[in-house]
Amino acid sequence: MSFNIEVLRSQFPILSRKVNGQPLIYFDNGATAQKPQVMIDALNNYYSFQNANIHRGVHSLSQEATTAFEAARTKAQAYFNAAKSEEIIFTKGTTDSINLLAGSFGRTFLNEGDEVIISTMEHHSNIVPWQMICDERKAKLRIAPINEKGELLLDELKAMVNEKTKLISIVHISNALGTINPIQEIIDFAHAHDVLVAVDGAQSVPHMKIDVQAWDCDFFVFSAHKMFGPTGIGMLYGKEHLLNKMPPYQGGGDMIKTVTFEKTTYNELPHKFEAGTPNIAAGVALSATFDFLNELDWEAIHQHETELLAYATAELKKIEGLRIIGEAANKASVISFLVDGTHPFDVGVILDQMGIAVRTGHHCTQPLMDWFKIPGTIRASFAIYNTKEEVDKMIVALNRAIKMLR
Ligand code: PMP
Repeated sequence: MSFNIEVLRSQFPILSRKVNGQPLIYFDNGATAQKPQVMIDALNNYYSFQNANIHRGVHSLSQEATTAFEAARTKAQAYFNAAKSEEIIFTKGTTDSINLLAGSFGRTFLNEGDEVIISTMEHHSNIVPWQMICDERKAKLRIAPINEKGELLLDELKAMVNEKTKLISIVHISNALGTINPIQEIIDFAHAHDVLVAVDGAQSVPHMKIDVQAWDCDFFVFSAHKMFGPTGIGMLYGKEHLLNKMPPYQGGGDMIKTVTFEKTTYNELPHKFEAGTPNIAAGVALSATFDFLNELDWEAIHQHETELLAYATAELKKIEGLRIIGEAANKASVISFLVDGTHPFDVGVILDQMGIAVRTGHHCTQPLMDWFKIPGTIRASFAIYNTKEEVDKMIVALNRAIKMLR
């Protein structure tokens, strides 16, 4: 599909609705992205005509549902260029994936004195699970620093790597700042020192295609709802030889081969990590989402979002007393800012009255907000369907809000 913004927008029904009497301007894509009709139709169709439990039925409907669900796995494998579909583990989302990783990998491979490295700009979901497992295993969680622009201090991260380092778990794109981290360099350096790397791709997937084999990352996690897919499903990609060495995270149906009261043997990958009935409907809808994503021209989208970011940044900077938090040289289309004499929450409420959805607060990155010595920010995060006209309307609304609040 060539990049025609009007055609693209027309595929997202929510973009034609009004909020508080105004046409919706949706700039909260970092929290969750809007949904194309094909994904909504797949969800509806599944519940209307395909609903059955998967993997264990002899009847036709169950087999049909299994095929529709498993299609998401093969499409995920192709989309992210994983070597095998067994390397794709379905989870509830990014948070669930990191908890799986910390619980299974951490409990097996972290010993007293071992170290895990994360960064100052992590989402709580890439902090708390590591804190919990490091506490349990008496391992040490180390935090790679950043600079005033919100960029990772790569040399300092490299200097933290030593023979005790077992894993670097790092965000690719910061949800609070938009910073794009140099993942390839981190992976190459880590591997040269026998250290594994897990990448939090929650914010990458709506903006670009990721090739896990090109990166050679060991683990990659994301949530489908951030990339125009359904809520309730996400992925843990892991290299097969690593996943094979990791024990199950949860016990129950589907993840077993045989069960007796004396001993249970576990299923093969990927089922070993997928206990219980998964979110089948979301899997089927995710499959349709991959079809949608495969039609997109990612180069054109990159150009569109780069222009949108540059334009919005320049326009915001014209507002007196407005300060952008996070000005990394390499940045995705996410802008966090503060306005002198106003509270982010109040600005958010007034923008909402004008139909504009932005996020305010700490964005689940409290340590990062503490680092900047701020309680939170106003965040406008753009997606493929946003336009300069929408940015113009936000600037007008912001100026009006500031006049009211100061
Ligand atoms: N990591 C990052 C960078 C995120 O932006 C988010 C969602 N805001 C998460 C992790 C957690 O994702 P989820 O809530 O879908 O599990």
